[in-house]
Amino acid sequence: RTAIVLFTRDLRLHDNPALSAACGAAERVVPLFVFDPALAGRSSNRDRFLHQSVADLRGLLRARDSDLVVRTGDPVASTVELAREVGAEGVAVAADVSHYARRRERRLGASGLDVRLFPGLTIVEPGALRPGGGDHYRVFSPYHRSWIAAKWRDPVGLPKKVPLPSGVQVGRLPAQPDGESPDTVPGGESAARERLRGWLGNVETYEDGHNDLAGDRTSRLSPYLRFGCLSPLEVAHAALGRPAADPFVRQLCWRDFYYQVAYAFPQISSRAYRRGATESWTDDPAAFERWTSGSTGVPIVDAGMHQLRREGWMHNRARLVTASYLTKDLGVDWRRGLAWFYRWLLDGDVPNNSGNWQWVAGTGNDTRPYRRFNPERQRERYDPDSSYVERYA
Ligand code: FAD
Repeated sequence: RTAIVLFTRDLRLHDNPALSAACGAAERVVPLFVFDPALAGRSSNRDRFLHQSVADLRGLLRARDSDLVVRTGDPVASTVELAREVGAEGVAVAADVSHYARRRERRLGASGLDVRLFPGLTIVEPGALRPGGGDHYRVFSPYHRSWIAAKWRDPVGLPKKVPLPSGVQVGRLPAQPDGESPDTVPGGESAARERLRGWLGNVETYEDGHNDLAGDRTSRLSPYLRFGCLSPLEVAHAALGRPAADPFVRQLCWRDFYYQVAYAFPQISSRAYRRGATESWTDDPAAFERWTSGSTGVPIVDAGMHQLRREGWMHNRARLVTASYLTKDLGVDWRRGLAWFYRWLLDGDVPNNSGNWQWVAGTGNDTRPYRRFNPERQRERYDPDSSYVERYA
């Protein structure tokens, strides 16, 4: 038996259920990544990060006497064509929540291949936890309680062998695209594991330090989680082996929370989530332009927006303040801020970006929708000596 493993955004060998299952069940395994032109061009930063992650995955597979087949085109057509070439009947894929990914899964199923879907995108699968009488949790705290109490799957080990059949045309990697931000972290599982190792020694300081803007004491693992260079379950397990890890692991729960919201409410990036949310926004292109370019004159807002452009990443506290300023002070529609973040963020994804924007704008899951972050008070509290503001001036 020959099986294809279609990698999408699970670009890793460790704790990869789709890969492990294929290696356990088939005599020959063909790892495949398809660059899909329909998904390219939304963010040059992410396009570059993706390319680096795929190159790293290929390197890791080659070091294990295997390889990564690389194609460009429609992932379904490319998979079907490769299956014909190598005589594969089955394809293993990590299940995903987006509209696009779910359609891809259905199209693969309709192609006649034996499609197997595997968990791994989140710690607890979207849809697995349901409150009485509902299809998903709308409020974080009860979700968090049931998430903690849930039985998590066991992480899977590294496959012993990934036995690629001989004679497969592996294909060349396309040229690496340029990203717009100069100071981004490099993509790939190798860089991700190095960062995780470094971070684990600091988990203990997370509770006290995670809001310290200049101290930069959060994990910065988000881009790696976004592309599955790390398994969120493995990150949680590794952290829980350390003292005082709960506040950090709770943040991983926020990620799962928004995935289960997006799974139940796929319009999350375009429509107000909260029933009865009133929306009236001001169309002020000049104010929006000042916000994007970091020239509002409000130091903490401008610093956050500069960090975003420079690093393709922004500290969570600054995300809250800049998003609140755009929606609550300038009155600009959250969808515009969402689109701007989506263009730059290495970790930009539909569930977390939309869920958090809606939370701040008061159209989402926040139980206090009229909350506003006062930028000056936020700076006094979280950047008292203005180091962050100066660093990103
Ligand atoms: P840490 O503090 O180290 O947390 C560890 C992990 O937990 C993160 O890597 C992330 O996967 C998860 N996490 C932490 N906070 C949140 C949160 N509020 N919601 C969901 N998951 C969380 N996060 C994204 O991954 N992608 C986005 O597109 C995104 N857009 C955002 C937009 C706005 C307006 C706001 C306010 C927040 C957004 N976040 C987004 C959430 C959060 O800011 C980032 O996940 C976090 O800053 C990443 O840095 P870190 O890895 O150092 O986080």
